[in-house]
Amino acid sequence: MKTYIVGNWKLNFTVGESSIYLHKLVKSLPSYRNLEVVVAPSTLSLQPLSLQIDRKRIKLAAQNGFYRDYGAFTGEVSFSQLRGLVDYAIIGHSERRYILKEDDKTIQKKVAAAIRNKIRPILCVGEIESERAFGETADTIKDQLLGGLADVSDDDLSKVIIAYEPVWAISSVKGAKLASPSEVAEAIDIIRQTLIETYGAEAAKKITVLFGGSVSPSNAGGYLTIPGVNGLLVGGASLILHEFVDIIEIAKKVQA
Ligand code: PEP
Repeated sequence: MKTYIVGNWKLNFTVGESSIYLHKLVKSLPSYRNLEVVVAPSTLSLQPLSLQIDRKRIKLAAQNGFYRDYGAFTGEVSFSQLRGLVDYAIIGHSERRYILKEDDKTIQKKVAAAIRNKIRPILCVGEIESERAFGETADTIKDQLLGGLADVSDDDLSKVIIAYEPVWAISSVKGAKLASPSEVAEAIDIIRQTLIETYGAEAAKKITVLFGGSVSPSNAGGYLTIPGVNGLLVGGASLILHEFVDIIEIAKKVQA
């Protein structure tokens, strides 16, 4: 199975800065096989960057998209408009769930809309700190996972990527803590078991599962060796070119 390293740039970098970063990133990339390097710039940068990149080396992800393909939805960008520009879309990121108040129903429709438009969804799931403290981690993960996947057919399931992102471990969250490898392993197990119980072992085996939460060059290797983890979703460290490149190098070594 491929290893995925996905950089989420969030609301950072102008179009010009994104273009310069990508130019430098491509120059610094090691040669690799079986590794998928993906960056998620702001929506505005996607079109120009899609013309700049060599898709064999680097892929683009949208950070969001709207669940209807067209119509009277002022300010939205649809997956049908993103079609052809990006290969992936991050959906259900905790910043969209908790700051922008997206619920599981909306996320479910977005996952389906992405697939309908030939874009692979990266569905983010993860508990907030109080849910963990009250022993609700497993229920939260299962609800978000099954909610997000509710409209995905068995045939399309392998197109979905799941990212486990405990919200309390995301670097921009006040007082963020690092998730320990055993905490991550436990959550990945919940995800894998839920997928097996719902879709069967064969289908579940084909689903890519990433981890995200304050990933840096110093902890990337540890997270990548957790059984069931197929890659990393990287926020803050993906904005720093040499750190992102280091993480890619580490992924390459872990695979070797
Ligand atoms: C994220 O927000 O998806 C993320 C993983 O951020 P960070 O790596 O900065 O914790």
